Amino acid sequence: MGFKELIPALPPLRLLQQSIRSDRVGHAYLFSGSDRSSLELAALAMSKAMNCLPASSQGSSSHGGDFCDACQQCHRISKHQHGDVQWIRPESKSRIITIEQVRTMLSTLHLKPNDARYKVWVIVDADRMHSQAANAFLKTLEEPPGATLLLLLTTHRDRLLDTIRSRCLNLHFSGESLDRLAKEHQEWLHPLIEKLASQPNGILEKYQALDILSSRLASIRHTIEQNMKERFLSPLPKDAEASLKKKREEEMKAAIEAEYRRSRSEHLSAMQWWLRDRWLKSIDQNASRLAFPSVNLSDEATGHSHSHPAMLANMKILEDLQRALQTNVQEALALEVHLLKLQL
Ligand SMILES: [Zn+2]
Repeated sequence: MGFKELIPALPPLRLLQQSIRSDRVGHAYLFSGSDRSSLELAALAMSKAMNCLPASSQGSSSHGGDFCDACQQCHRISKHQHGDVQWIRPESKSRIITIEQVRTMLSTLHLKPNDARYKVWVIVDADRMHSQAANAFLKTLEEPPGATLLLLLTTHRDRLLDTIRSRCLNLHFSGESLDRLAKEHQEWLHPLIEKLASQPNGILEKYQALDILSSRLASIRHTIEQNMKERFLSPLPKDAEASLKKKREEEMKAAIEAEYRRSRSEHLSAMQWWLRDRWLKSIDQNASRLAFPSVNLSDEATGHSHSHPAMLANMKILEDLQRALQTNVQEALALEVHLLKLQL
């Protein structure tokens, strides 16, 4: 998958591709938008485009400033196994990017890339930078080393220091994430909502809907576990020390949990968007800006007319569920309790 495939979902990538083609890439970008995973996707694409092997051997212009997604560089970047493309994220407990994390980054920044053309640092949730960390970082933004690209990602652009914002080229990715959301979630979400809507007070149908959601979540967890095993354990040599193995396994566990939570939250967001669509449609048959424009919502709703407050209450239930899952509540129980409350 290259820029071509991504641009329909993430239009600002077109600008990045143009700047690569014309050899006018900035040294620091701020990607903002409501959907973190879209921003990460954009950062991955940019990292690959800057370092793709076929692209560089042919000169970036003849390659159209794109990336192949198949060469060794692209492959390692996709798997987060490229030493020259590093990601910083808020630390799990405090959800803060610490001064230590920034110092580690700064200490390697002036070194030449090992085997990439560009060294890339991606800072996820850049707004979570501790103020000390942000200040340390600022100096580098003023005088960036060569062959370096800094990509700052934020879902809360307003929380970033002005001084940081103004030193980056800003790209905003709002709204586009909806297309991706619809593509990824329509298929499993459709039967679930149909179940809920088929029999508004049917307890059996609600449990069937719960089953659909639970098995979907089980399958994404499985996929995440497989991917993380490959990322954390496969690179270990066979004769690796037990202590190293143990450390990696612990890191892997934390990464699985974080990624699973992110994905679960996205699944529930998709459901929220769907419910929002239904609500919009009930107010205005010609409503635009729907998240799932290709779904015929009026079919689902045949026979039932629900009040607007009831529809709003459904969205609120999903919000409560998201909030509950951020605590240490038991997942299966939280899903059951909240899903049974929905009135479609
Ligand atoms: Zn490539």
